Amino acid sequence: LPFGFRQVAAGDKQRLVDDVFHRVAQRYDLMNDLMSGGLHRLWKDAMVSWLSPPKSARGRYRVLDVAGGTGDIAFRILNRGGAGTSVTITDINGAMLGVGAERAEKKHLADRSRFVQANAEMLPFADRSHDAYTIAFGIRNVPDRAAALAEAYRVLPRGGRFMCLEFAPVDLPVLQQVYDTYSFRVIPPLGRAVTGDEQPYQYLVESIRTFPIPERFAFEIEEAGFSRVTFRLLSGGIAAIHSGFKV
Ligand code: SAM
Repeated sequence: LPFGFRQVAAGDKQRLVDDVFHRVAQRYDLMNDLMSGGLHRLWKDAMVSWLSPPKSARGRYRVLDVAGGTGDIAFRILNRGGAGTSVTITDINGAMLGVGAERAEKKHLADRSRFVQANAEMLPFADRSHDAYTIAFGIRNVPDRAAALAEAYRVLPRGGRFMCLEFAPVDLPVLQQVYDTYSFRVIPPLGRAVTGDEQPYQYLVESIRTFPIPERFAFEIEEAGFSRVTFRLLSGGIAAIHSGFKV
């Protein structure tokens, strides 16, 4: 498939996304560090600290981490939460989950994590089956965002928490220039150097530009039914964490 992403119809988008993550699964974690200068670690820490999974060992706290990839969010949640905390990691891509499952074993977190291949638009879980729903750098890739948000709402009980970490489009002219240079001149060649392929990273850059601004995305989350929707900007607004509750 050619990577003329801007013109891609919604139906083809998922195929392209799958293709990207199949190709990069093994080197995905290294690429994250290189491309964000390690910043993604701080952003993920910020998300999990805002979520603050209960530390007490009593009572179950079941988290559903969607588009969980190689488990970065899930492992942070498990390390922070008490013994009652468990995480179901879902991703549409089996290769990413495979890398995640190996990491869970190495980190001795396998007993509190499970891996389920699933599409964020159609989750194979019962209504109200989880206490929190997290998605990091995933919703940008989902063709039907409204369907994914509706599924998030469905699998949470009243009082359930929704949290999303995602890149945000930059709208400061000065920062825009620096950011564009970095995005178009640095990221795709770096992608090629590490993974042997430049196109997935061109896709990454494009998909960030077309994602809604944080205010607009907050509105979409409210439209899905969530209340008390707020967001925090990270690193000068290049990423944002959104939070909401099902009340
Ligand atoms: N959450 C992880 C992290 O922050 O490191 C992984 C993020 S990675 C940038 C995006 C993930 O979204 C990929 O693993 C990809 O397979 C997954 N993905 C793409 N489309 C999806 C969909 N429709 N449903 C579920 N996962 C999807």
